[in-house]
Amino acid sequence: MTKGDQPKQSVLNRRGPVWTVLGVLLVLGIIAATGYRTIYAPASNGNSETTPDSEKAPRHLIVISIDTLRADHLGCYGHANAQTPAIDKLAGEGALFEKHYTCYPLTLPSHLTQLTGVSTLGHRVRDNLYHRLPEQFATLPEELSKQGFTTGAFVSAFTMRSGSGIERGFSIYDDEGIREAQQGKLTIPERKAEVTLSRAAEWLKKNKDAQRVFCFVHLFDPHTPYSPPADLAAKFAGKPNAGYEAEIAYTDRELGRFFEQLRALNMFDNAVIAITADHGEGLGEHDELSHGYFCYDATTHVPLIIRAPGLKACRPVAITRNYDLAPTLLDLLAIRSESIARQTHGRSLKAALDKPGEDLGLIAYIESHYAYLNANWAKIRALRTASSLTVFSGDLVEHYVEPRQLQSQHDTHPGDVQRARAEIERLLGSLMPPRRGKGTPGQGGGMGTPYPGEAATEQDFEPETINDTRELPAPASKAKLLLRYQEAELAYDEQLYQGCAEKLRKLIADEPKFLMAHKLLAGVNQLLVETEWKSLGIERARELALEAARSLAAGADLSEAARNFENARRMKRNAALLCLWLNEGALMKRLQAGGEADAALAWLDWLLRYRTAKSEGREIVAKEAEQWLAQAKLEEPIKQQALLDLKRMQSGEELKLAPWE
Ligand SMILES: [Zn+2]
Repeated sequence: MTKGDQPKQSVLNRRGPVWTVLGVLLVLGIIAATGYRTIYAPASNGNSETTPDSEKAPRHLIVISIDTLRADHLGCYGHANAQTPAIDKLAGEGALFEKHYTCYPLTLPSHLTQLTGVSTLGHRVRDNLYHRLPEQFATLPEELSKQGFTTGAFVSAFTMRSGSGIERGFSIYDDEGIREAQQGKLTIPERKAEVTLSRAAEWLKKNKDAQRVFCFVHLFDPHTPYSPPADLAAKFAGKPNAGYEAEIAYTDRELGRFFEQLRALNMFDNAVIAITADHGEGLGEHDELSHGYFCYDATTHVPLIIRAPGLKACRPVAITRNYDLAPTLLDLLAIRSESIARQTHGRSLKAALDKPGEDLGLIAYIESHYAYLNANWAKIRALRTASSLTVFSGDLVEHYVEPRQLQSQHDTHPGDVQRARAEIERLLGSLMPPRRGKGTPGQGGGMGTPYPGEAATEQDFEPETINDTRELPAPASKAKLLLRYQEAELAYDEQLYQGCAEKLRKLIADEPKFLMAHKLLAGVNQLLVETEWKSLGIERARELALEAARSLAAGADLSEAARNFENARRMKRNAALLCLWLNEGALMKRLQAGGEADAALAWLDWLLRYRTAKSEGREIVAKEAEQWLAQAKLEEPIKQQALLDLKRMQSGEELKLAPWE
């Protein structure tokens, strides 16, 4: 189908007749295989897009996404212990979607879905650090900008920093203070709600006379580590999940103030105001403390509350998905965007608002590659219907019909399991991206990550099948180990680095093939060496650096065995950097021995040869290195760095690299 053949229907007009004709193809809200093909059509230049004149349409759009907020921890969703009056009040005045799901329980992937209407299955950003939104997808702020909106985003954590494509279309993308990974720290830089909201309010004040405004706010406080204000900490002390609950109460209190500011600016009653979350939090359910590892309701069931002029208070019961958000917001604003309509996997939820009591037959597709990308475990693919959750991972099948999802009943519901499998297979099979293999490397390469030596690339666009990681262990089969790992992570968050390293050493002794434990141990050691080498003494610092390098080498071997070559390459490069600190030639050789040849690794070896050559031999090494570099295929920005290194070698400079040098 060419662009000219696209039906010129609004998203709203699409439901009804199309639904009846396409029937089952719409169960996931995905407009069939033809829709998938056109997902990858180049984004429209916008000239063909028009704004329907609607005097009654709300003027502004305010979207607030609260990181890590479980739906069932808000008062309006029935949580008795909650102290969330501001959000509850908003929910009472608008629509509260009872069964709203994220398609991917991780920050950046989920937010990109919110802002594009495309599930992670389509845009394939499945990691916070290494993936980037492909250019061909239009974003909500881009589309609203074209329609005359003044757009601004105010975000609160490093995982939402600009550079991944999340910033696209915003005239201001405020990530000040959280853009850079903190030197010598692995924790995610974050900003408190009061800071982010006051910056948003200031910007809104400046733009209060603008024709129409879209303000996107991301708050991070309910995410670990917890540091609620003293009064709320005291109020929740001794209660279950005290830190989490207190941070939610804090966020609500700040939002209450923000809403007052909106009212004072006359930007409240004439705006669509949406509150949602990117994912929930395990809080120990299914042995998951945080999120990303599994796809149970604990981390996928999130709030969606929308208040808008003319919208009656209601509580729609249909299953809704975060890829429905963009089409729904456009619909409520009476804005037509063909780009979003063409690419979205979701649909406008106007039908759910019109008939809140009806189950619209929608189903949420949910997935996580987090454990695959980080631990070489199997990918998770799940289907959430109104009555069940079916999960496929490795050779493990789970099927739950009770809300807590504790007893799998896959044996007693084989028909439901088979239907879910067929639906997921159909979905995966209908995705035919134009590009095969790796996309072009993302500009994220220079973004920096908490793990030194690692860099972002655009995600893999290989075709996927439900069995593609079948030989790998299901994350659920590793739940007990995962719990111990997350305890080490918590120790880390609390800056108990020595304790964290001890937990990880024990974990690795019990499970030498645990990739994440190797990786975190390397990170902790490296951090300790960089920040505390003076107090540790050079000898201990060298021991820790060597342990880190060995852990990374072990991690690279594990990744190669699992055919996860991207992971392997990152870890080898990082290990090679540590070998340079230590002048550790033997391990450097070992890193180069297995797997595919990596020019970056070879270059680091030239640096090592230079460092370990006797002074008269350095000139020869520099000459040979120059010849090698002239023909080497090195990607940017490594090539530029290598040329700088070479200059230093040619001038006979000492290459000081280790913290103690
Ligand atoms: Zn998040």
